[in-house]
Amino acid sequence: QAKVAGKNCYRFYSRAMDQAVERRVHLEHELRGAWERGELSLVYQPVFCLVDDAMIGAEALLRWQHPERGLVAPSVFIDVAEQSGLIETLGPQVLHAACEDAVRWQQLRPQGEPLFVAVNVSPRQLRSGDLPQVVAASLRETGLSADLLHLELTETAVIGDEAQASNLLTRLRGMGVKVWLDDFGTGFSGLSHLRRVPVDGVKIDRSFIADVLRDPDDLALTTAIIAMAHSLGITVVAEGVEREGQYAILRERGCDLAQGYWLGHPLPAAEFLALLR
Ligand code: C2E
Ligand code: MG
Ligand code: MG
Ligand code: MG
Repeated sequence: QAKVAGKNCYRFYSRAMDQAVERRVHLEHELRGAWERGELSLVYQPVFCLVDDAMIGAEALLRWQHPERGLVAPSVFIDVAEQSGLIETLGPQVLHAACEDAVRWQQLRPQGEPLFVAVNVSPRQLRSGDLPQVVAASLRETGLSADLLHLELTETAVIGDEAQASNLLTRLRGMGVKVWLDDFGTGFSGLSHLRRVPVDGVKIDRSFIADVLRDPDDLALTTAIIAMAHSLGITVVAEGVEREGQYAILRERGCDLAQGYWLGHPLPAAEFLALLR
């Protein structure tokens, strides 16, 4: 009996695995050329300063409007792009488009405070080695001021060859670009990274913010991250602020910047421009 069940189980899992692999191969195939076909676009989520409640920039987030599947989440397709190497063409396209949009924002409000654009950079883009050239080209071609470009790297991107990562980040920062560590606190050795990897800021992962009002441990960790970052002279951003109470407590604890659904949802480029008007 057990043997039969085991066999069926095995077959079930194996079929499920085949389907997952098949789906990935499919997605990869369909993702090729998706940018050129206009299926991919950027949405922008505003980032606010907690001192004066002013919007000071926005994070660019990629969206894939698949012709049959509908909206595919970045958590699915970014991974496919990363594994397949597609990210090496897609990444520079995203960077260029985000810089172009950010130039438009400044043109719309010449008297206003400049708005930065934050672009996510995947581990593979970082490892490819030509990131400084790609960034320099985007800045040159669009005319965006380097200090208005923020690059968001995840902790996993800097794991491994920390010396090489540190070298690269130093070069990028030398160009005037800002570098943030994304999803901070979720890795195993976040603190030790900060010692070796030069960054301008950290984004506290939204899993900490989610329970900051209910879980004293999450509040303690969030408060500790803020204190530690400030003692190192770097900026702290909270992501995933969904309620007013979270915003209030983050401000009270001295967090510098925040983003989240309570403050503003990611908006298509045209709607974000309309918001600025
Ligand atoms: P991330 O960089 O940590 O981006 C934040 C994610 O949290 C976004 O999900 C955003 O829509 C979501 N979010 C914002 N505010 C809230 C909130 O209040 N509550 C909750 N529950 N979620 C909130 P999204 O757009 O699905 O992106 C997921 C991840 O995909 C990003 O995480 C980033 O790692 C990656 N990604 C997105 N666009 C790009 C890209 O252009 N290049 C690369 N390499 N990765 C990207
Ligand atoms: Mg990010
Ligand atoms: Mg994040
Ligand atoms: Mg996250």
